[in-house]
Amino acid sequence: MKTIESYSFGVGDRFTMQGRAQLKAIIRANEAGIPLVPVWNKSNREHQIVGTVPEDTWQEATEAVGALGYKGSWYVDADHINLSSVDPYIAHSNFFTLDVADRIGVPADRREAEDMVKKLQAFEGSLEIPGIEQPFTVTEELLEKTVQKFFSAVKEAALIYNRILQVREADDFIAEMSMDEVDEAQTPVELFFILVMADHFGIPLQTIAPKFTGRFNKGVDYVGDIGLFRKEFEEDLLVIDHAVNTLNLPQNLKLSVHSGSDKFSIYPVIGSLIRKHQKGIHIKTAGTTWLEEVIGLAMAGGEALKMAHHIYKEAYRRMDELCAPYATVIDIDPDRLPSPDLVASWNSEKFADTLRHIPGHTDYDPMFRQLIHVGYKVASELGEAYTAMLAKHASVVEAQVTENIMERHIRRLFIEG
Ligand SMILES: [Zn+2]
Repeated sequence: MKTIESYSFGVGDRFTMQGRAQLKAIIRANEAGIPLVPVWNKSNREHQIVGTVPEDTWQEATEAVGALGYKGSWYVDADHINLSSVDPYIAHSNFFTLDVADRIGVPADRREAEDMVKKLQAFEGSLEIPGIEQPFTVTEELLEKTVQKFFSAVKEAALIYNRILQVREADDFIAEMSMDEVDEAQTPVELFFILVMADHFGIPLQTIAPKFTGRFNKGVDYVGDIGLFRKEFEEDLLVIDHAVNTLNLPQNLKLSVHSGSDKFSIYPVIGSLIRKHQKGIHIKTAGTTWLEEVIGLAMAGGEALKMAHHIYKEAYRRMDELCAPYATVIDIDPDRLPSPDLVASWNSEKFADTLRHIPGHTDYDPMFRQLIHVGYKVASELGEAYTAMLAKHASVVEAQVTENIMERHIRRLFIEG
């Protein structure tokens, strides 16, 4: 089996121009003693909106690795793919995020569901997970509910996994299962039974992305009860430990945190808990790099600043359309957004400071940031004009990208946490 390292960091790049700048941040982390490997992730949704294809991401990664002489492992993640979208990714990815969120709660074949409940009855009674003080009480009713809710989803993951296996060798890629884009968090005990079912279907999961408690909005900080998150995250780690010790799942199975960029207030929690329990972590970020591109353009001034103004103006005008695909992962109150006319009067510094995620900075505006986050479609429609502007101001843009990943993300997670 291809085995992913303990610490991996998913970077996303809408316009496939920041591969080197992103890899530079990983190399800096390695130089600072953090054994982190890069994963370039791009979802089917992003590819469709921007008009790129999976091969573009593979090429970008290959090019960045070659240009910087990077010697470590690296991965390209077919992010949030399902049975109908996986095929074009198979040749150009070595990490697959099997997204089964929309199969949660879908009724399964009755016989199969009954058989699964029977199998799980071995866990009925008091389920003790080492490290978790209170044992879980597992009733037949809980097992039936869990199977009703998750059986179809896990079965779907097996179908996607087997589809990939028709083309690639099992030891040639990493499998992740994601259930994060839903409203309701999965509890630690649900996570345990999800893993039992994954084992039943023989999916060698190395990472799993549950929905955690609280809001994981795109590009902004965590919103929720940090104490509750801490308890849940620690229990999830212990559940994983128990699962890999008692089932046939890969020993290195780890949690994957989606919409993981910018969750600064929980980074110290995640960092300290994975070190306490000696577990790995995969942090998935994507849009935060696109935001740094816009910040870089704003800082460059002149025409580039005008383009940043234009992107905001269009995103504001097309808010409903742009927000729709991200409904579960953004919170924007239109009444609290600055008007495009006002923004058009902002200079480089004001625009960059409003967009850049520096908690506590007087100009930082998370609403503004979330709207630009979903506004990358506007830039993609600018086409060459946008990418040429990025190329023209490459040095300022790339410096923002590298600094954001290393200083604001990796440092908080792996050094200061
Ligand atoms: Zn996700």
